[in-house]
Amino acid sequence: MAGKISKIVVLTGAGISAESGIPTFRSSDGLWENEPVEAVATPEGFENDPKRVITFYNERRAAAQKCEPNAAHHALAKLEEKFGDNFLLITQNVDDLHQRAGNKRIIPMHGELLKVRCLGSEEHIISCTENQPEKCLECGAIMRPHIVWFGEVPFEMDRIQKALMQCDLFAYIGTSGVVYPAAGFRQIAKLSGARVVCLNLEEVGGGYTDEFIQGKASETVPKWVDFTIFNS
Ligand code: NAD
Repeated sequence: MAGKISKIVVLTGAGISAESGIPTFRSSDGLWENEPVEAVATPEGFENDPKRVITFYNERRAAAQKCEPNAAHHALAKLEEKFGDNFLLITQNVDDLHQRAGNKRIIPMHGELLKVRCLGSEEHIISCTENQPEKCLECGAIMRPHIVWFGEVPFEMDRIQKALMQCDLFAYIGTSGVVYPAAGFRQIAKLSGARVVCLNLEEVGGGYTDEFIQGKASETVPKWVDFTIFNS
């Protein structure tokens, strides 16, 4: 590893939660848990059949809460402990396994399963651990999962962009690298001078990546974290 690291940004995707028992997404022909993505992960899907979408996320919420963080989540919590404010975790995952492992400097860019928000006011966001309420208790408007669907803009893009441009190490873990804008993060980091590392079960994306570490996240991430801390 060239030189000392001062700022680290890590991007995670569904692959890091796979060994915790939460299925990934793209691996099954555009189906997410047997549902077509356009039916359950687009604004149009919600408009067409809100009950189907709400039921889908109620089920995902219940299933995710039965899962536990794995060694890869715990390793990233250790990395944050070491680097403090010089660490940022960006996750495309909507489960809360990183938060439960202890990560605090985290941007859940695609939203959070355990929150729902109101269509009347974007400020009415409530936590929700069970079946979501249909209507907002404050204003009576329809509630929806606090999830970024296809065609919607992910959260905190300005903060993400700035962190990518300032980091000197960027790692992307367990993500197929096909969902934009996250798929473009390695390019921003690389062109801004960062070293870019990919940890995945299979070779993905290509380009703008200095090192590829193949294997299960629960095995590769703890080793990579120890190596990174040792070399910092
Ligand atoms: P993806 O499903 O498209 O890709 C997952 C990647 O992880 C694949 O490249 C796969 O080879 C790799 N992988 C699978 N098991 C692995 C393991 N044990 N160790 C290391 N890598 C492994 O996921 P994505 O790129 O995150 O994009 C899908 C979108 O779907 C996300 O943006 C997210 O919003 C949503 N999603 C979230 C969850 C979750 O919250 N856990 C689960 C499914 C889908």
